[in-house]
Amino acid sequence: MAKRWDGRPYRTLCAEVRRRGDPCWLCGHDIDLTLDPRHPLSFTVDHLLPLSRGGSLLDPANARAAHRSCNSRKGNRVAPRTVGPASRRW
Ligand SMILES: [Zn+2]
Repeated sequence: MAKRWDGRPYRTLCAEVRRRGDPCWLCGHDIDLTLDPRHPLSFTVDHLLPLSRGGSLLDPANARAAHRSCNSRKGNRVAPRTVGPASRRW
């Protein structure tokens, strides 16, 4: 297994996504970057193509800004096996 949440590069990526100031890619609303990280509407980085499917953890093109709540809601709703054609490659 590749190492996953490898501290520094990942944090750099987060900072970069944050700097872009994009709205949440899941609900389309702005993200208040000043909120406490534990706040449901705080900023998180979500991955367009999940890491479990070969998505790159550190590729800015694969990273999207998302609210914490949207991110986790999506995680709950979309079970890995029920998302589209399972074997599709990008
Ligand atoms: Zn959202």
